[in-house]
This record gives sequence, C-alpha cells and structure tokens, in this order.
Amino acid sequence: MAKKPLRLLPEALRQLRKKPATVKYPYEKASLYPGFRGRIVFDATKCIGCKMCMRVCPAKAIEIIQIGEEIKTLEDGKQIISKKFECIMNLDRCIYCAQCAESCPKKALIATQDFELAQINRKKLKITYK
Ligand code: SF4
Ligand code: SF4
Repeated sequence: MAKKPLRLLPEALRQLRKKPATVKYPYEKASLYPGFRGRIVFDATKCIGCKMCMRVCPAKAIEIIQIGEEIKTLEDGKQIISKKFECIMNLDRCIYCAQCAESCPKKALIATQDFELAQINRKKLKITYK
C-alpha cells in the first residue's frame, strides 16, 4: 500500500542533511582511481613499427603507418635506416582497454587519465600523432 506523502516528510528532511550520494561532476573535477585508462597517447620517437598494438586491438581503433625513413650514423660509424611512424587513433572506436599500451614492447603508447573526449563533430575523434 502506498505511504501517505506526509509520512515521508521526516525521511525527506533527514536526507536533506546528508551529503549527496552522487558525484558532482562536471561541476567538480572527477577523482579518478589509480590505473584509470583514458585516451591513449603515442610517442613517435619510441615506436619501432612492429604493429603489435594493431594486432591486439579488439576494436581495430589504432593504425600505425610508416611516414618516412632516414639514414642515421651510429657512434661506431655504422649506418642504419631509421623508420618514422605515425599513429592514427580512432577514438570513436576505442574502448579504452589499454591492451595496445600493455602490449607495446617500447612503451610508445601510454594510457592517460584524459576521459573528456566527447565531440559533436565525429571527424575530431580521429587523431593523428606524429
Ligand atoms: S606496439 Fe608500440 S612499437 Fe609496435 S607499432 Fe605499436 S606503438 Fe609502435
Ligand atoms: S585502448 Fe584498446 S580499443 Fe583503444 S586502441 Fe588500444 S587496444 Fe584498441
């Protein structure tokens, strides 16, 4: 049987004195737990182009593309070909599992705590890191 509205008044007053059960985000900064997996960033200076990240990505959200190469001379005089890669992240497909970052042998991918990624223009969710 439904309670009469006045019988709920003491409970309503009691609740008014309590702290809110919900967080105040976005009016207050959200507190994230350690190890939170947000937007993935790419460090081109570390990438060796093994494409392990592409293979493990369950959402096919990451692409590694070779964009150039240069000949470098080492201290011992040897010359090597150094390839340069860029990373295309499709944030509209990414599920932020950070599997790519976990699998990268060179730690070229890092999961940041950035989660405020909403966009009206979907094209802005495709980010190219060079
Ligand atoms: S796994 Fe790391 S090193 Fe390999 S292609 Fe991806 S970002 Fe580059
Ligand atoms: S975080 Fe997960 S879904 Fe996103 S690019 Fe990396 S492996 Fe793919």
